[in-house]
Amino acid sequence: MTTPPLGGKVAIVTGGSRGIGHATAALLAEHGAAVVVSGRDADRVQRAAQELEERGASVHGMVADAVKREDADRLVEAAKERFGRLDILVNNAGITRDGLLIRMKDEDWDRVMETNLKGAFLMTRAACKLMVRQKSGGRIINIASTAGAMGNPGQANYSAAKAGLIGLTKSAARELAHWGILVNAVAPGLIETDMAAALPAEAREALLAQVPLKRIGTAREVAEMVGFLAGDGAAYVTGQVFHVNGGLYI
Ligand code: NDP
Repeated sequence: MTTPPLGGKVAIVTGGSRGIGHATAALLAEHGAAVVVSGRDADRVQRAAQELEERGASVHGMVADAVKREDADRLVEAAKERFGRLDILVNNAGITRDGLLIRMKDEDWDRVMETNLKGAFLMTRAACKLMVRQKSGGRIINIASTAGAMGNPGQANYSAAKAGLIGLTKSAARELAHWGILVNAVAPGLIETDMAAALPAEAREALLAQVPLKRIGTAREVAEMVGFLAGDGAAYVTGQVFHVNGGLYI
């Protein structure tokens, strides 16, 4: 029997309880990795973990809030305690609080920055400490967005956080290369998940009209890119942003 490409590896996927995170956890597990998935809602986390387990995955579900430093530390500890190590971190947890800039509340700005940007910093810091100690490199993959590259009306907070995440990706890639830790970002366009379903119909149609491939993407199509970046085929790739968007941003 051949060894799966990520056999023996351990991954954390934040926000792995649904959407892109869940599809990513499933794909990494199919490639042989043991996976820790997180989210804020206990039922959703438990259901997701159970579903992945039924598909044959080694999985540990954990309630953890991306904005809390102690939760970030707990997630990394859980990966080590449960599966012995940590090789792959996918910073996927994210939210939107859309609104026109002129009317945006401070709280909507802060919440999106904390979850989508500070959360990734907290996780990256906690994870890379362990990866450095392990002395066997690692992969960190940040889920950014087309909005972080081209902006989007009604998403000043979200676009700023995702652009910040791209900056974090590039700096972390430069700092962590010394330890063989590769850091990249995947920037999805319009992807069929609960987040995209929450968009007003007109905004969704307006975005779709700009997609040369003329369809919404699937969570699995984003997961495929993450899977590539987590694997041996991406050994010479760091500090890059990979767009999975049907051509929405070229
Ligand atoms: P969903 O809303 O479908 O899922 C978001 C996931 O993140 C859930 O598992 C949710 O669980 C979790 N989450 C949200 N906030 C937190 C938090 N504070 N702490 C821990 N977990 C949290 O979103 P998508 O799957 O669509 O999005 C995933 C990522 O992809 C996000 O970063 C998003 O910005 C990005 N993206 C999505 C696009 C799309 O079109 N769908 C386009 C571009 C980027 P729970 O609510 O239980 O906490």
